Amino acid sequence: MVVDTTLCTVLSNEYGVSISTPEHVLAALAGAGIDNATIEVDAPELPIMDGSSDDFTFLIGCVGVRPQPSRSRPRIEVLKPVQVQDGESWARLLPSDRFRVSCTIDYDHPHVGVQHFDFDSACQTFSETVGRARTFGFLHELEWMRARGYAKGATLDNAVAISPDGVVNDGGLRYPDEFVRHKVLDAVGDLALAGAPILGAFQGFRSGHRLNNMVLRALFADQSAWRLEGAETEAQRVVA
Ligand SMILES: [Zn+2]
Repeated sequence: MVVDTTLCTVLSNEYGVSISTPEHVLAALAGAGIDNATIEVDAPELPIMDGSSDDFTFLIGCVGVRPQPSRSRPRIEVLKPVQVQDGESWARLLPSDRFRVSCTIDYDHPHVGVQHFDFDSACQTFSETVGRARTFGFLHELEWMRARGYAKGATLDNAVAISPDGVVNDGGLRYPDEFVRHKVLDAVGDLALAGAPILGAFQGFRSGHRLNNMVLRALFADQSAWRLEGAETEAQRVVA
């Protein structure tokens, strides 16, 4: 269950055990088509790695995946548009014949500005187009975050830092539009918490973990907006 979305997603169970920042490993699993895996963690948060899904994708590739032909693999089919709004920001889920995630960001910063990226699972590979995009932050926000106990481990090894003059990291960006691609990565991870793959299109405008979670809740709150589809048609894939 999602209990907090202030800066990252925080999950908690009925015993009060919580784990934060699961979205990047969930995105790596979802991007690899895996929806059945056991993850053991002995800390209150997932390791941030390099701030993207790349290390998790690499490790999944090392271990390999295994089909589960004997088990059904239902998908959550979006039947009609659902939208949530917070000021100028919004997120929506729409019917689609395939899984798509489109994000638009609009930052009042000359080195970020307006960026748009459309991930289409039918013709793009998650690990190549989105999975390497790192989390990012503005240097002037770091003080605010650290004062509240967040981002204590934030370094240039696990995040892209943006100053008024531009990207601080040596080597610059991995994609010219890395910022919006990371928003797509986060959305793929957050949507993986639906419990089954989504057959539909997500669109977000200045959205984040909170709106991503809200739009899922709005979908499930409307029984006429979704159904479980293809329960007996596809094999599940698990980490071997
Ligand atoms: Zn992220």
